Amino acid sequence: MKTAALQSVPPSDDEPFYIAEQKIYPREIDGTFARLRRAAVLVLLGLYYGVAWLQWDGRQALLFDLPARKFYIFGLTLWPQDFIYLALLLIIAALTLFFVTALAGRLWCGYTCPQTVWTELFIWIEQLTEGKRAQRMKLDRGPWTLAKVLRKGAKQLLWITLAFYTGVTFVGYFTPIRTLASGLAHLSLGPWETFWIGLYSLATYGNAGFLREQVCKYMCPYARFQSAMFDKDTLIISYDEARGEPRGARSRGSDARAQGLGDCIDCTLCVQVCPTGIDIRKGLQYECIACAACIDACDQVMDKMGSPRGLIRYTTDHALHGGATRIARPRILIYAALLFVITSVLLYSLFTRTPLILDVIRDRNALYREVHGGLIENSYTLKLINLDDHMHRYRLEVTGLAGVVLVTPTGTIEAAPGTVNNLPARVQAPGSSASGVHEITLALTAVDAPGIAVRERTRFLGPTQ
Ligand code: SF4
Ligand code: SF4
Repeated sequence: MKTAALQSVPPSDDEPFYIAEQKIYPREIDGTFARLRRAAVLVLLGLYYGVAWLQWDGRQALLFDLPARKFYIFGLTLWPQDFIYLALLLIIAALTLFFVTALAGRLWCGYTCPQTVWTELFIWIEQLTEGKRAQRMKLDRGPWTLAKVLRKGAKQLLWITLAFYTGVTFVGYFTPIRTLASGLAHLSLGPWETFWIGLYSLATYGNAGFLREQVCKYMCPYARFQSAMFDKDTLIISYDEARGEPRGARSRGSDARAQGLGDCIDCTLCVQVCPTGIDIRKGLQYECIACAACIDACDQVMDKMGSPRGLIRYTTDHALHGGATRIARPRILIYAALLFVITSVLLYSLFTRTPLILDVIRDRNALYREVHGGLIENSYTLKLINLDDHMHRYRLEVTGLAGVVLVTPTGTIEAAPGTVNNLPARVQAPGSSASGVHEITLALTAVDAPGIAVRERTRFLGPTQ
C-alpha cells in the first residue's frame, strides 16, 4: 500500500518553507457515489435542522438542558446520576468509528462528517451563485464588476444566513428552540445564547466556506490516526496502477494495449473533482477523505473511452494485488465483540432502569434516642428523586430488625415528576432487639406503578451492652 504523502520530504535550499494554500475549485460531478453523498447530506441535514423542532410528550424531543442538568432524549430523561449511559454511548460511538474504519476505511469522512456535509452544502450555494468550476475560476481572476459584486454578495448572504441558522439550531439543542426563536424575534436573547450562536455560526461559515479541505488536512485528528486502523483488507479508494499505466492520451475506442498504453488517458478529471485537490494516482494519501468523486469521474471517462469501469474503485490492498480480501480478521472480530457487549449492556440497563432514587442519610446530631415504652429511635433524612416524567405516590417500608417500625413518614409520599424531595424519617425498634449496630432496609415502592421500587440499606444504632 502506498503512503506517499505520509512521508515528509525536506524542502531543497531554493524552496520556500511556507507555500500559500492554493484555492481549490472542485469540479461538479454526477454519478452513483455523488448521488449517495447528496442523499446522505439531505438526510443528515434534515435530521439536524428538523429534530430540534420535534415535540415529545409536550416538550422538546431532544434537549440537553445543561442548567437543569437534565438530558431529554425522546421519552427518556437522563439525570447527572445517569452519566454512565452517556459514557457508554460515547464509547459505542468511538468503537463504531474504529469498527467502520477498519472494515470500510474513511466512510465517515466521505459521507457523514459534519465538515463534509456542510462543505457540500456551501459548495452547492457557490455553484448556484457563481456558476460551474470554470466560471468560478474566471470570476475570481476577473476585475470587480457589478455582476461579480452581485454574485459574490448573493453567495455571502446565503452563506451567512445558513451559518446563522445552523448556529441557532445548534444552541436550540441546549435551550428550548421555540423559546430561542421567540427571544431572537424580540431581540431579547441572553448573553450566553448570543455568544454560542455567534461562535457556532462563525465556525460553520469559516470551516465550510473557507477552510474546507484544510480542516481535513491540518486540523482533524482523525485523519492522523485513522491509518493505525487500516490494514491490507480495509476498503480503500484506489487507482489500479497495473491497469492504468503507462498513462497517456489516445483516441476514443482505440486499443490502448496496441499503443503500449494503459487505460488512464491522463485527462486529470479525477484531480479536478477532488475536494482536497490530490491526485489519487499517486497512491493512498492521508488527505483523501474517501468521497469517491474520483471514482464517478473516472467511470464516466472509461464509459466514453469504451473501457471497463473501475480504474479507480473501492478495493483493498490485497484485492488490488491479486489476493483475496478477508473480512473476518482479528481486529474486526474484537471491535464487533466489544460493540456487541457494550451495546447490550447499555440497552439492558436502559430498559431495566428504575426512574427513582432513594438516598438515606443518617442524622449526625444523635446516634439514637430512647423514647417512652423502652423504644430506641433513629432519625434519617431521605432524599427521594422522582426521575420519571409523571407524578407518583410512594409507600415506604422498613425491615431487617425484629419489631422495627417506621414512625414517619407514614401513608403515601407524593413526588412531582423530575423533583428532588428531602424528607425527615424516624424509625423505632424495641430496646430488647436494638442494642448494638444493625443493618436495616428501607424499601420505597410506587403504589401507582409497583414496578418502580428501590431498596436502600442503612444502619440502625442502639445502646451498646
Ligand atoms: S479520470 Fe481516470 S483516466 Fe482520467 S486521469 Fe484520472 S485515472 Fe486517468
Ligand atoms: S482522491 Fe478521490 S476519494 Fe479521495 S478525496 Fe479526492 S476525490 Fe475524494
